[in-house]
Parts: sequence; C-alpha cells; structure tokens
Amino acid sequence: MKAHDGMYIDGTWRPAAGRDTIEVVNPVDEQVIGRVPAGTAEDVDTAVRAARAALPAWAATPPAERAARLSALRDVLVARKDEIAETVTAELGSPLKFSENVHAAVPIAVAGSYAEIAATHAFEEKVGNSTVLHEPIGVVGAITPWNYPLHQIVAKVAPALAAGCTVVLKPAEDTPLVAQLFAEAVHEAGVPAGVFNLVTGRGPVAGQALAEHPGVDLVSFTGSTAVGRQIAVTAGAAIKKVALELGGKSANVILPSADLAKAVNVGVANVMSNSGQTCSAWTRMLVHSAQYDEAVALAATAAAKYGDRIGPVVNAKQQARVRSYIEKGVAEGARLVAGGPESPREQGYFIAPTVFADVTPEMTIAQEEIFGPVLSILRYDDEDDALRIANGTVYGLAGAVWAGEETEAVAFARRMDTGQVDINGGRFNPLAPFGGYKQSGVGRELGSHGLAEYLQTKSLQF
Ligand code: NAD
Repeated sequence: MKAHDGMYIDGTWRPAAGRDTIEVVNPVDEQVIGRVPAGTAEDVDTAVRAARAALPAWAATPPAERAARLSALRDVLVARKDEIAETVTAELGSPLKFSENVHAAVPIAVAGSYAEIAATHAFEEKVGNSTVLHEPIGVVGAITPWNYPLHQIVAKVAPALAAGCTVVLKPAEDTPLVAQLFAEAVHEAGVPAGVFNLVTGRGPVAGQALAEHPGVDLVSFTGSTAVGRQIAVTAGAAIKKVALELGGKSANVILPSADLAKAVNVGVANVMSNSGQTCSAWTRMLVHSAQYDEAVALAATAAAKYGDRIGPVVNAKQQARVRSYIEKGVAEGARLVAGGPESPREQGYFIAPTVFADVTPEMTIAQEEIFGPVLSILRYDDEDDALRIANGTVYGLAGAVWAGEETEAVAFARRMDTGQVDINGGRFNPLAPFGGYKQSGVGRELGSHGLAEYLQTKSLQF
C-alpha cells in the first residue's frame, strides 16, 4: 500500500522529527502493508504553529469560498472512492463492498453536506438591537479512532473548515493510510496551506501532545471513554473546549406490537456490521418475556448465517479483549446461542458472530462496551421495565425502538436517555445531530449542530 514517510504540514509532506515508525497491519492475514512515521511533540508543535499561522486568513475567507473548497474536497473523494475503499479494506479488514457502501460513501455524503451548510449557514444574525456573530473557535486538535476511519476524520474536519477553523489531525495508529489519502485529497481540493495538517503517531505521545498544546483552542476526540475522560481533565485545567464522542451500549427495544422477525434480523445485522466496531451499535436487544424464546431462536439463526463474512476485528489486542468479554459472559451465567470465544479462522483477527441469551441487566456484557460482534438479549416484563433496562447503563449514545405504530415507538423513544433513536429501523441522515447523553460524550457531530461545536459567539450591541 502507498504510504508517505512524512507529515502533511503547511501544505507539504515534510520529514518527521524522529525516526520511530508505526507498522500498518492487514487484520485479515496479519501482513504488514505499510509504515508511517510516529510523530512526536515536536511534530505536533510544528503542525499547530502552521495551523495558527493559517487561521486569520482562513477565518476571514468568505463562507462561500470555504464552501467551494469543501465541495471540491467532496469531488476529490468521489473521484478516489475506489482507492478509499481499498485502503480501508486493507488496514481495517472490512469486506470491500462494506468499505464502498459505508467507509467511502458516508464521508462523501458528510463532506457534501458541509459544503452546503457552509454556503447557507447564517454566520451573522440580528437579535433585537444586537448583531450576533458566529466566529470560528480557532485551531482544532482532532483525534480520531480506527472503526470508521475516514468518516470520523471528515465528521470533524469538514465542519471545522466550514466554520473557518484550522485543524491538526492525529488519526488512529491502526488506520493511518486513509488519513494520508485524505490529506492528499485536501491538497488536491485547493485548501490553503496550513488550514489542514496531519500528524500520524501514537496516542500517548502525539495524541497527548496535541490535546495538551496551548496553541489548540478545541480538542475534538472520538474514541474510548477512558482516553476521553483524560482529555477532558487536561482540557478542563486549561479551560480549553472539548467535543467528545465516546462509547455506547445502545438498547434495541422491541415492543410486543412490532414485526418481531424484522426487528430481530435488522437488530442482529446492526450489531454484526463492521464486526461490531460501531459506537452506536444496538448491542442490547430487549424483548418481551412472551416473545423471548422466539426472538432468541431468530437471532441465533441470523447470526450463524454471517459466518466469517463480517470480517475480522482491527487488531490482536481487540480480538483478545472481545474474547475475554465472551468468556466473562459465559462465566457470569449468560447462555451462548451463537458464536463463542474460538476464532473461526486460524489466521487473522476473526471473532465469530456471537449471541448471548439469558443476559441480565447487571452482567458485564450488558453494561460494558465490547466493540466486537457480540449481541446480548435481555427480557423485560412491561414497558416500564424495558425503559429501566434501556436507561440502566452509564452510556446514552443511540438506540432503537420497534412497534406496530410509529407513534407508539416515538412515545417510548421520548423517555430514553440517549442522543439518537432509530424508529422501526431508521435510515442514516447526515444532517441529523449525533452524540451522547450521559458518559457517551459532550457535544454533537453532523449537520448544523456539528458546525456549532466549531463556532463561538460574539454579540455587538447597537
Ligand atoms: P483509544 O481511545 O485508545 O484511541 C482513540 C484515539 O485516541 C486514537 O487516535 C489514539 O491514538 C488516541 N489516543 C490514545 N491515547 C491517547 C492519549 N493519552 N491522549 C490523546 N490521544 C490518545 O481507543 P482504542 O484503544 O483504539 O480502542 C479501545 C476501545 O475504545 C474500544 O474497544 C472501544 O470500546 C472504544 N472505541 C470507541 C470508539 C467510538 O467511536 N466511540 C472508537 C474506537 C474505540
């Protein structure tokens, strides 16, 4: 795979300050497919200085021109979509069709949505005798995970650029190649030098240096709750703004009036998609006691059909982590009805699509984010019971409700402590705000709500 041996800073690829490199491994066959430089605090500092220097001119660039650059960026991503899909498949291991339909297509939609939002957003408004200005927050430090590697990047960089901010990106160690491809796309789209900068590197070195850098005005982070908490503490001490997209343990609530087979099949597909490495995945299925046995049988059959076609998880550490959760589920008394801790292949980081029945709300597999293809099915006795279980974790990122009538599902969704709920399946909407209640995060991504994270407000009184 093509890999740059430098950092994209101030519009050019320049050598890294140190010699350390990160190996990129294909999770399907465990082969090394490339190497990228592991950035240091010095690289981060160079990149932040470039972003600061570029800020005044970019912030003063008319929104229509910023929109034109984002539209050009979208066009470059469209032109290079096959390359994007191949790159994500190589470094994340996703089946190529999934990479095309999701890992390439979703960021293209999001980049396009921000080209439109930048062109039409009211960056100034009249409120009585005041004019309110929505100004860029400044230099953004973006830290992203590997699970939807390009989407997570675009969901931060596109609104930041639309707002008039400049950016330093530190992408995940496991998926730096698509981040380098993105930097090339930004360059091809004619975004001025210094507006977007890329520093590849390790979390505790380059990531931490970026989060702590005094020249960064906002840290936008997506990843684990543990690292998010650490970033929030550091930023809090410096009174620096943060946006955090963290973990989830979302409930898929199937009310008795729902089409049970459809709700179960879509629910299983949702969890197995991207090998379960989705923060908003509906990892807890809640089924009425009267329909419980039927739902478990349907889910077990649906999961078994996937086999190893879902692809591996990202690396050996995640594979071991997911396996240990499966073992914990068994040890705590849940009943395995599909999959299990044994890998379905000798090579690669595969986990069999796994379904647990007889899961109770206090079990570890019902409380903690596993980030693998593991579904827990819980039973409830009435709606209040279902609500208590659905709301009974520290997380609140997403969820789903199924019912015969949409109005019934909506009434239940209103009582859920969570940032997003799919009604009878739902469909992805790049304009709808995405983000967490409770410990699932701070702030929102996507659409005009996502843009707002990168703006600060000034009022002029007349
Ligand atoms: P992580 O939080 O360690 O990594 C996310 C990003 O943060 C990466 O770019 C990483 O390099 C960086 N990072 C790590 N330590 C840092 C530090 N001290 N300071 C600044 N940046 C740092 O996540 P992970 O280890 O890749 O995955 C572990 C678990 O996190 C997963 O099993 C899953 O539960 C969760 N996760 C959630 C999401 C999500 O979308 N919410 C995404 C990936 C992982």
